[in-house]
This record gives sequence, structure tokens and C-alpha cells, in this order.
Amino acid sequence: MSKFRSGVLYGQELMDLYADAKQNGYALPGVNAVGTSTVNAILEAAAKVESPVIVQLSFGGGHFYAGKSLKNDTLQASAAGCISAAMHVHAVAEMYGVPVVLHTDHCSLENIHWIDHLLDYQEGYYAKHGKPLFSSHMLDLSEETIEENIEICEKYLARMNKIEIGLEIELGITGGEEDGVDNSDVDVSKLYTHPSEVYYAYEKLSKISPNFSIAAAFGNVHGVYKPGNVKLSVEILENSQRHVEEQLGAQGTKPVSFVFHGGSGSSPEDIARSIEYGVIKMNLDTDMQWAFNCGVRDYYAEYADYVAEQIGNPDGDDVPNKKYYDPRKVLRAGEERFVERLEVSFADLNCIGRNK
Ligand SMILES: [Zn+2]
Repeated sequence: MSKFRSGVLYGQELMDLYADAKQNGYALPGVNAVGTSTVNAILEAAAKVESPVIVQLSFGGGHFYAGKSLKNDTLQASAAGCISAAMHVHAVAEMYGVPVVLHTDHCSLENIHWIDHLLDYQEGYYAKHGKPLFSSHMLDLSEETIEENIEICEKYLARMNKIEIGLEIELGITGGEEDGVDNSDVDVSKLYTHPSEVYYAYEKLSKISPNFSIAAAFGNVHGVYKPGNVKLSVEILENSQRHVEEQLGAQGTKPVSFVFHGGSGSSPEDIARSIEYGVIKMNLDTDMQWAFNCGVRDYYAEYADYVAEQIGNPDGDDVPNKKYYDPRKVLRAGEERFVERLEVSFADLNCIGRNK
């Protein structure tokens, strides 16, 4: 018997999944996808470890999914690519037997049209099918004041809640650079969220819906840098969780669902502690990009003499090389390494066999 339904989870199912994660001390990998190849690899890895997984797309990833040649002036291509990716996941997830959380990554105020397009589309979809396409969306308004951030998030959560979509918000800034957003030079104090901000957000949002999670900054950084450059303060999560518990008079209940951004390169100890303090999702992008790259790189190195010319290789001057340069061979080599790497993250997140 599986614990969760296979296919895309939404509404109460999503909250049940995160409650289960918190209760049993694991977190789900939130893996960025940019095409069917990476989506399928994510589902393949989740099927292997028999756990639910989060498939997510950035606005750049969505644009790439739809096609880089497409005009994207109102982020219409970013939205179309995300819808296309979602349709793909809905079509195949059950075949993999995997419960999937479908999510979109960072959306700043500048890119808000992207989410507007997605919500417009899903309101129509929900009216027809009684379910949304996505389980949740993220709004990263951490560049705004906390009041503005939460005020806008309240409006969006109210709108999303009507079609059973959850919201992930960001408090404080994740450092580093991802998807063209460069936060490597921001004020250091902004890299650490204050517990009072977490309660402020929790208090306001929970009046609208319990279906939200918080990406709090605790020195985490997008990308991978030399060891020692990143100083994680996992205590911020603990202090914030305790503070909210005290305000609610609900000690030991871990009311806040935290999301860990910039997890690439983190030590298994820091990951384990963050889960203890209520992290239910850890984003993975950089390490997965690296794994895919290594698979393709090693494939070309191994078959260098078979991909240099269309005809002729060490086995003979007239031998055709079609079976070596077929893009499926190249992409599959990337996928295989991606799956292997993702299995390691599932283990780091204590997320093995969580659908059994
Ligand atoms: Zn992030």
C-alpha cells in the first residue's frame, strides 16, 4: 500500500504530505527541471527510492521549456513552458507511481506577470477539471519591505487558495546567483531572517489559508562556492520555530513549514538539523546541473572517436556513427548521472521509502 496517491498532489494532499514530512523527520527534494529529460529523471529517481518528489520550474526554465526563440516580453513563454511541463508531469507521473508536488520557483515582483498568466490559466482549468495544474507557486518578494512582501502574498494566497494551490514565500534574501538573479552583493544582515519576521508572516498568512511555506534566509546561498565561504546559521530556523510556537502557545508543534534554498554543497549535518527545525523541502538545482553536465561530458570523452565524424570510427573507416550521436544517447548519459545524484540527496534528506 502506498501512503500517497501517485500523480500531482494539491490542496489538502499537499498539506498532509508536508505534515507527514515534519512528523517523520524528512524533507522532500525540490528539483529544478528544464525539459522532459530532467522531469523524467526526477520521476525516475523518485520511483527508485519510493518517495514523493517536488518538480519545479523557474521562469527561465519555463521559457527554455517552451523554446528559447519565443518572445517573452510579458513572460508569456515562461508561463506557456510551465503549463507544458505541468501537462507532461500530469500525463506520466502515475506511470512512474510517484506522488508529485508541482511547483514554480522564485518569482520577484518584476516577474509577477508570469504567475498572473499561470493563475489565469489555472482558474479556467480548475473550473473544468476541479483541480489546479500546480500544487504550489513561490513568490519571492524579499526585495520589498516585509509589509509589502506579506501584503502582496496575502492577496495571492487568497486567490490561489480558491483553486487549492499553496504558496511558498521568501523572508530575507538567499545569497548567490541563480537564473540570472544575482544577490552576491546584498547587505549581509538581509541574508539572515529575524524570528519576529517569521511570526509576522505566519500570523497574517495563516488567517487566509494554512497552505503556505516559508523560505527563510539563514546564510544560505544559491550556487556552489569554495568551502568556508558560506556560513549557515541553522539556529535561525530553530529560533523562529520556537518564537512562533511561543506566540501561539503551541510548544513542540513546529507550526512553520520551512523551505531550504541554496542547499547545494551543504553538509549532511546542517541538512539534518534544518529538518529537525521544520524544513520540509530543500531546493536542488546547482548540484543537479553539475551531475547532468558530468554525464554528458563523460559520454563525449568516452566516445570521442565515435562522435567526431558521421562515418568512420576506430572499428572501421566506413562504419556509421549514428547510434553514438543520437541525442537520446547523449541526453540519457546526462539523465543517468542526474538520477544517481538525486538518489544521494533523497538519502541526505532522510527521504527514502516515504511512499511505502
Ligand atoms: Zn532559491
